[in-house]
Amino acid sequence: MRHSASHVMAEAVLSIFPDAKFGIGPAIEDGFYYDFDLPRTLTPDDLPVIEEKMREIIKADLPFTNREITKAEAKKLFASQPYKLELIDEITDAKVGVYEQGNFVDLCRGPHVKSTGEIKAFKLTNTAGAYWRGNERFPMLQRIYGIAFNNQKEIDKHLAIVEEAKRRDHRRLGKELDLFLMPEEIGGGLVIYTPKGGRIRTIVEDFWRQEHFANGYEILYTPHIGLSKLWEISGHLDHYRENMYSPITIDEQEFYLKPMNCPFHMLAYKSRTRSYRDLPLRWAELGTVYRYERSGVLLGLMRVRGLTQDDAHIICTPEQMNDEISEVLRFSLYMLATFGFHKYKVYLSTRPTGSIGSEVMWKDAQEALRRVIDENKLPYEVDEGGGAFYGPKIDIKIEDAIGREWQASTIQFDFNLPERFDMVYVGADGQEHRPYMIHRALLGAWERFFGLLIEHYAGAFPLWLAPVQVKIIPIADRHLDHARKVEKEMKSRGVRVEVDDRSERMNLKIRQAQLEKIPYMVVIGDKEVADNSVSVRPRSGEQLPTQSLSCFLDTLTAEIASKV
Ligand SMILES: [Zn+2]
Ligand SMILES: [Zn+2]
Repeated sequence: MRHSASHVMAEAVLSIFPDAKFGIGPAIEDGFYYDFDLPRTLTPDDLPVIEEKMREIIKADLPFTNREITKAEAKKLFASQPYKLELIDEITDAKVGVYEQGNFVDLCRGPHVKSTGEIKAFKLTNTAGAYWRGNERFPMLQRIYGIAFNNQKEIDKHLAIVEEAKRRDHRRLGKELDLFLMPEEIGGGLVIYTPKGGRIRTIVEDFWRQEHFANGYEILYTPHIGLSKLWEISGHLDHYRENMYSPITIDEQEFYLKPMNCPFHMLAYKSRTRSYRDLPLRWAELGTVYRYERSGVLLGLMRVRGLTQDDAHIICTPEQMNDEISEVLRFSLYMLATFGFHKYKVYLSTRPTGSIGSEVMWKDAQEALRRVIDENKLPYEVDEGGGAFYGPKIDIKIEDAIGREWQASTIQFDFNLPERFDMVYVGADGQEHRPYMIHRALLGAWERFFGLLIEHYAGAFPLWLAPVQVKIIPIADRHLDHARKVEKEMKSRGVRVEVDDRSERMNLKIRQAQLEKIPYMVVIGDKEVADNSVSVRPRSGEQLPTQSLSCFLDTLTAEIASKV
């Protein structure tokens, strides 16, 4: 239906712009788009006009008919359509499929609904510039986006979610709450954390380190660049080069910025003889890596070029593999739950053709992954043959506060690097054996996870993550001295606190603190000074009864410790 709606939109555009040249018009999640080359730039006012035409076409209930024609016939049929001609040239089959409805015929494999009347509810949402074939060397076309659903109610629901997503957009909130910057001067996809964002990152990293030590991990630090030889051994120069930056030449040697941390960890493993008694090794690193992404796909914190992975490599014997996988999944769900994510979906990717590693290894590894998913009763989908050539993996996607799904944890087997680096351990039999190696990231990349946190909480971070937890608001200047004393006491208990010492009206200060989404405001006036009490207003807006400072501090520190 969505793809059919794009054809109907193309017909409507053709009726308004008889000289329109057509690009492509696929269905996408929730809707469709079509790219046009038009004699003038579209404005938002054009959309209702096109919608009206579309309604007429839908009402006429025109059948979609398809046929196969030769390439020569197709070239004749699309003689005035240069973009279609380009596509026809690339088709390797002898025959070309075309679909037709009303006054519009398109190069298309289908499928389509039977007739235009089957398109239920739609809306054109916006226009955008889009390069032909997504390549900036080709002409810029005009793309019209639309959505299509089974009824108006679903359209309304979808639009409400889109509005809510706009309100939560991490790029907007990042600016408003002063959390991070991505200035043009440093280049696309690179992030500066300002003090408040830096504060949140520090809290998360401290927590992350503490939990990793508690769960039997050790932490490694590795360099940002490495010699070309390293990336040859690891295979990155053969298989991952398009994502790597050009080399830096120093003393006639070529160094590459690291796109992954793994090769360094492999070298650390190789630095001494390992016995089965040393395994499992669980080595983690908050490693900042650099990966090339096309400028067109960069998107705030969600798609960046410099990212910090919460990486780890688990190196174990075949006998330990099941327990290790089970532990990683448990650890990962625990971490995600701590950050307020409680709904997960797991995707298992299995052996593709052309993969390396033995049948037994693949089977055992896939079984281990499937078993832990079952044990945790998680809903999952299998992507048959969708694994990397070097091993199966599971991806955990989390659902955010407004029901959107995001990639978080990955648990990935690797049968390749242990071979490439010739990693071995001495078994109980005194012989050398190849260990299993698992890459895993729990939060994924910190940048994307931070973007996700901002949107999930709509900037109102839970108390333990909030960069400023308490704002002290003296009613008048004469209360400032006491406010400073309260501040000092709170700081001594580890609370992140600020005093609003401006000579402004109390209501304005409260309003400001609310905009900053600070969890608690503490108002200090004559009464509070007299009996060392505090008047507390949570950001939810209610007013708590006046209480002693020590009483409030006890509740506050307990709430911080509980991480809710
Ligand atoms: Zn089509
Ligand atoms: Zn790795």
